Amino acid sequence: MTLEEYRPTAKHWLEKDAISKNMPDRFPLLQEMRLANEVVWINPDKCPMAEISAGDCELSMADINDAEARLQRFAPFIMHCFPETKKQGGLIESALTDIPEMKNRMAEKYGCRLQGRLLLKQDSKLAIAGSVKARGGIYEVLKHTEELALAEGLLKEGDNYAKLAEPEYREFFGRHKIQVGSTGNLGMSIGIMGAAIGYQVIVHMSADAKQWKKDLLRSHGVTVMEYESDYGEAVENGRKQSDKDPMSYFVDDENSRNLFLGYAVAAKRLVGQLKEKRISVDAGHPLFVYIPCGVGGVPGGITFGLKQVFGDDVHCFFAEPVQAPCMLLGMGTGLHHDISVQDIGLSGSTEADGLAVGRPSGFVGKMMEPLLDGEFTIQDEKMHGFLRELEETENIFLEPSACAAFQGALKIENAPETLEYLDRNKLIDRMAAASHIVWATGGSLVPEEVREEYHVRRF
Ligand SMILES: *Cc1c(COP(=O)(O)O)cnc(C)c1O
Repeated sequence: MTLEEYRPTAKHWLEKDAISKNMPDRFPLLQEMRLANEVVWINPDKCPMAEISAGDCELSMADINDAEARLQRFAPFIMHCFPETKKQGGLIESALTDIPEMKNRMAEKYGCRLQGRLLLKQDSKLAIAGSVKARGGIYEVLKHTEELALAEGLLKEGDNYAKLAEPEYREFFGRHKIQVGSTGNLGMSIGIMGAAIGYQVIVHMSADAKQWKKDLLRSHGVTVMEYESDYGEAVENGRKQSDKDPMSYFVDDENSRNLFLGYAVAAKRLVGQLKEKRISVDAGHPLFVYIPCGVGGVPGGITFGLKQVFGDDVHCFFAEPVQAPCMLLGMGTGLHHDISVQDIGLSGSTEADGLAVGRPSGFVGKMMEPLLDGEFTIQDEKMHGFLRELEETENIFLEPSACAAFQGALKIENAPETLEYLDRNKLIDRMAAASHIVWATGGSLVPEEVREEYHVRRF
């Protein structure tokens, strides 16, 4: 059954609240997901890049190039406001590091049969926001800033953007508001950058957001609105508040093309980093990338970029908590934003605050239909295991959300579903020459006391 044929049926189950009784053949994992068991999903709708016509997709490489150029224009301003970015010329970029000791530990402890090179993309250490949100969130604030300033005649082409830090500009931006709904990290990236430019920033935080993230934002002069409900409601309220105010701009995590493109730029930067490490990516040297997924913007944007750059030689997988596998549910049923994890009886709550999202982005899910290779879900307890093991073996600290991606590296050569995928794609013989990137999405701003808690806590 194709996705197009399946979608109305899935919708029917949902309306009839009969998902549990009518096991859909096309998506048999649903039952396991309801039980909060870990699952491995291979996307049946993935297409070779050659079969995807440019017209099918609203975004292209040109949009990524445009975003990259915009970040470059802002580099002098970023260096000025955040001197820690000077050594990278005002670009916010993270290291790609081999983690051989972690690979050994995964082999010993979990029987992980991963053959190739295991690397960590340390977005956890990105400047300014300490998470992958420093890519999309900051990009979106800058894009909005450029638009406002150009429209007002405060900037013109060829200007040195460092001048935006001067008082007259700050005063102008101070009359404008930016609002965003967030589980924590997006709010931090928008809040810190927004405050640096001079905006009034209001962050609408869901119940899952950690206290230290709220405290840190308030210390930057950001207004934090707290909600007792989940992320979806924080977003809706934020949107309503913002829409009422003509001076307010709402960053829409679920639908923002800007956020998405900000994340996608990571792919272009990775090309040089792989070269430096003498890692080839071609048919004989496949690249596997595992990225934690919440609403979908982060892993979707990065995957979109990687597929543009490396084509069919890159294999992208998302990882989600067993209680909040919203993207997998949306893509598997084809219902995307029209289904939530609560609809199948899951709580949506997880220690991985960055991934505590019940309803996926429909925009991202649809973009991923022909691109994404698959998904893994992971129990919270296991994320904490990876968190401790990475610290013990490599002395690198990540927040729990970021550790979800290790599930991909663990399973790729161990699970029957992925072994079948590798076989079908004629990759089995190439796995010794493969590289695997675990995308570490956050952690460096986590305060010491909170880290301690993660160390001692057993589940
Ligand atoms: C936001 C976030 C993600 C996932 O990003 P989405 O755009 O919500 O899918 C993953 N890890 C961390 C640490 C995050 O903050």
